[in-house]
Amino acid sequence: MRTLESLNFDNSYARLPERFYHRVDPKPLKGAHLISFNPEVAALLDLDACQVGPEALARFFGGHELLPGSEPLAMKYTGHQFGVYNPDLGDGRGLLLGEVVNAAGERWDLHLKGSGQTAFSRFGDGRAVLRSSIREYLAGEAMQGLGIATTRGLCLVGSDDYTMREGMEPCAMLLRVSRCHIRFGHFEHFYYRRMHDDLKLLADYCIERYFPDLAGDENPYRSMFARVIDSTAALVARWQAHGFVHGVLNTDNMSLLGETFDYGPYTFLDQYRPDYVSNQNDHQGRYVFRGQPGVVLWNLACLGQALLPLVEREDLEAQLQRFTALYESCELARFRDRLGLVQVETDDAALVDELKALMAEQRIDPTRFFRRLGDFDGGEASIAALMELWPDPSRLTDWLLRYRERLERESSDAAARRARMHAVNPKYILRNYMAEEAIRAARQGDFRPVNELMALLRRPYDEQPEFERFAGEPPDWAGAICLTCSS
Ligand code: AMP
Ligand code: MG
Repeated sequence: MRTLESLNFDNSYARLPERFYHRVDPKPLKGAHLISFNPEVAALLDLDACQVGPEALARFFGGHELLPGSEPLAMKYTGHQFGVYNPDLGDGRGLLLGEVVNAAGERWDLHLKGSGQTAFSRFGDGRAVLRSSIREYLAGEAMQGLGIATTRGLCLVGSDDYTMREGMEPCAMLLRVSRCHIRFGHFEHFYYRRMHDDLKLLADYCIERYFPDLAGDENPYRSMFARVIDSTAALVARWQAHGFVHGVLNTDNMSLLGETFDYGPYTFLDQYRPDYVSNQNDHQGRYVFRGQPGVVLWNLACLGQALLPLVEREDLEAQLQRFTALYESCELARFRDRLGLVQVETDDAALVDELKALMAEQRIDPTRFFRRLGDFDGGEASIAALMELWPDPSRLTDWLLRYRERLERESSDAAARRARMHAVNPKYILRNYMAEEAIRAARQGDFRPVNELMALLRRPYDEQPEFERFAGEPPDWAGAICLTCSS
């Protein structure tokens, strides 16, 4: 195990040519203080949680001091924002501090978000506010708990600095940890600038680092693109199955490894609403919940386009054409899991589609519904428990009958099915109101709610009686929470 001062840095990205980034140090936050520390992420870095103190964390991750071995840099990338290409992007308020290689040989990026202006800040102040930093920190842990690929946070640092967002808001920094900070937009930058040698260099870097088994393929870049299609289809299938709306699916927010990335105005749906738009600035509803698989495919096509100098057009198109069927089969598999179905029957897709249509019509809370469905045994009490969640219970009756018949054709017994379903249908998800309560408390200097939610969300499938109140109906004001791009 290591201390903060002896982390095993090896900064492969910093060894790429200087045109790939801009070197700059973090700008310190006034009154930097630790709000939360995540020992699970510390373990990924071989960091001994018992040896790290809050003061040291606030110093290193509040921008006051550099970790030995860290070489901070702002990555250059571009991307399509709401369908429009923007050549001027890059890390405008976050820095890659370096890469830590642990004893198992895993390489983790340390990215300090909110660390001040860089060459790519444009008109921005380079800061992140407490509100959005808490939301990103909690979301990473919630996703991880659900088993959905994601970046995570090592720690969250607050400050006495304020900046203008929705009124004056306190600044914060989040130390984000992930295997990958390469975005689709990294490739787009070199493609649109016609820097094809650098495009190849970037692709070779990614293959060596992330897909070494593809290095010997006839065209490793084509194989890499196929991998990105696979992981991204699997990711968005999980989003759809868990009611997650990302909010800003621009190509600069898409990770090459298919991880949920750059959390902003996201929502875990309280009600199953295919037409839900999470970001109030998204006036056209480009990133509406039901549209996510389609925009993700559009984003993959942007990445494919950027790979044209390296891969034949027909090959890229053939890969893109695999996406929809792959996505659909992943999504169906996730819903089969949620319904406790092990056997595969051709009518399962219809059973799932019908349930989705009914949930949308009745605006059902999918989390509470699926959790209770695990307890369904055909008996009066379990039917009543389900009906309780339906404004018009008669709308559920036919479907429930079909579902019961379908369950009778499964070979496993009821107890096994219940256990299986409870292991994939969370009791707790990160609802917007929960994050909002934690933000309000943190702004009053009470960091307990943030830390409680971290503990809760890490184990969303477990019964946690002390947190029972989060398993119930969201409060009335939850529907009025307004999320925007501002962060
Ligand atoms: P986002 O909407 O957070 O994904 O950010 C889009 C782009 O704007 C990225 O290049 C960010 O680095 C940059 N950006 C966002 N907020 C700020 C800020 N406050 N200061 C500087 N750059 C920012
Ligand atoms: Mg972003």
